[in-house]
Amino acid sequence: MGAEIYLINPSSCTECVGHHEEPQCKVVCPVDCIEVHPEFEESAEALLKKYHVLTRLPA
Ligand code: SF4
Repeated sequence: MGAEIYLINPSSCTECVGHHEEPQCKVVCPVDCIEVHPEFEESAEALLKKYHVLTRLPA
């Protein structure tokens, strides 16, 4: 809440797949304002693949 606005970089966001059961930013957001942008909806498989690329872990 306030003048500052934060944007999530979709190329760096795995919706927490690989780390947590739920997107942690959504869990802690006090005003429930974080939504998946319709242009960046990804399957669980795609998100897990991104997780492996970002963490450099073997798939
Ligand atoms: S906390 Fe999880 S869902 Fe939120 S921006 Fe980071 S990776 Fe994405």
